[in-house]
Amino acid sequence: MGEIRPKTEDGTTEPQEPERTSGIVRVVGVSPEIENEALEFWKQKFDNQELHETEREKAPDEIMMIKKVLAHLSEFTSIYGGKPVPLKMENIHIIDPDQFSAEAKQKLGNTKGWYDLSSQSATIISDRNNIDKTNLFHEITHELMHFSEFSSLMPHTVVEKDGSSNTLMAQRRNGFSVAVMKDNKPEFYFNDLNEAITEELVARFIDKYLLSDQSVVSSDYFMKVINSLGHGDAEGSKFSIPDIDKYLMITSFSSRYNEEREKLWRLIVDIKAKNSDKFKSPEDFFNIFAREYFTGRLLPVARLIEKTYGKGSFRELGKETKAKNQFKK
Ligand SMILES: [Zn+2]
Repeated sequence: MGEIRPKTEDGTTEPQEPERTSGIVRVVGVSPEIENEALEFWKQKFDNQELHETEREKAPDEIMMIKKVLAHLSEFTSIYGGKPVPLKMENIHIIDPDQFSAEAKQKLGNTKGWYDLSSQSATIISDRNNIDKTNLFHEITHELMHFSEFSSLMPHTVVEKDGSSNTLMAQRRNGFSVAVMKDNKPEFYFNDLNEAITEELVARFIDKYLLSDQSVVSSDYFMKVINSLGHGDAEGSKFSIPDIDKYLMITSFSSRYNEEREKLWRLIVDIKAKNSDKFKSPEDFFNIFAREYFTGRLLPVARLIEKTYGKGSFRELGKETKAKNQFKK
């Protein structure tokens, strides 16, 4: 079916933006030629997935779960204005926990997976002898959400001790997160909010597409997700403004980011209270954040924050919620 595109003033059709060919949407601060070259470079990385030596073949249950996520992720991304990534089974890699050294395990903490920009892959840690389907499904959805979030790069010049310099491509934006250079190193502002939004999107994804699909996750988990979104029948499950504590309690569906989610919802509830005429529900407000996550257009959120809390408050919020360490997941 043809797409309806807006007409410009002289009646011609707006040039259509190119399809997304990898996790990277844009390269900024370079000529269009360099940008095209860089996007082609990332496409090659994306298309040619190498098997890491520590990786193993996916188990049938893992393949089934990845397929279920991939079947709906493009549509979900488009709903929030994002450009879907043409993800394939090969972009997702599985590693057994016994492949990590004790030191590496400590470093990983409770991390169960990550999206790696440089290899254009998502890696999930899963024990072949004890596949925890609920947890695994949650992790797959979380990491593929990161793969689908808005992502841009910028040139970054590194000056060596001997005075020579080298220009590399560095991450500029991922989802809601913005790289801010400090001492020539990027700090990822808004990282905590980005993780919170990712988790909220996972809940909405499951609610929308996998309701009652118990071949994937436990019914107990589904109930928590459904209740959290106010779709269940359980008493008191509807999320109302003064109920934020209850909301967060109900929705702690194996989320590693409940602290971050609390920060996000307290912010949403507070902004809503101060802009009561503008937005109907907390969900309307969440949608503004979610659209930014997928489109990279920060302005609507930035304006709202500055209008609510004053000039400079958006940057301040970014600083308060920046990544605590270099290991993002
Ligand atoms: Zn994450």
